[in-house]
Amino acid sequence: MKYLSITDVLNKDILELMIPSDKVALVQEDNPLEHALLVLVKTGYSAVPVLNASFKLKGIISKTLILDSIFGLERIEFEQLGSHKVSEVMNDKPPVLMASNRFMDAVKLAIDYTFLCIEDEEGNFKGILTRSALLKYLNRYLRDQMYMHTVHSRPVK
Ligand code: AMP
Repeated sequence: MKYLSITDVLNKDILELMIPSDKVALVQEDNPLEHALLVLVKTGYSAVPVLNASFKLKGIISKTLILDSIFGLERIEFEQLGSHKVSEVMNDKPPVLMASNRFMDAVKLAIDYTFLCIEDEEGNFKGILTRSALLKYLNRYLRDQMYMHTVHSRPVK
């Protein structure tokens, strides 16, 4: 097995850690909130990407944003779920990386987001990169470094 070096980490292709679009739970911007909430509850995710009909990233929708949008003065107005669209409620400034971005760019952006969206040069949605995938890879690097350090600091008999 090859041990990871700092050069491996700095040059890591973020696409190798990406969840590709066909495995990502998605909603469309013109879906009713009811559909988005169903997707979020059924998948167990707190937020998912929002695309348009041309597969371009438009935003992120979360359970919190949906529930916040239907809070009335005295009660939660569940009937509004069917009459409002995802585009009215979503965060339309999602964290985005280009496929060509460096591993370090991804780590920096992931400090503030649990997942990042990845687009190609034409702005097509490619998939997502989760903070946990980045941490898993960094954890492997740190473990390798610890092992190498232990081996090399042993006294030679
Ligand atoms: P995880 O690191 O697996 O806990 O994922 C962090 C967040 O990324 C989840 O809460 C979701 O918002 C998003 N996410 C992870 N995997 C998927 C997926 N397959 N489809 C849509 N969103 C996902």
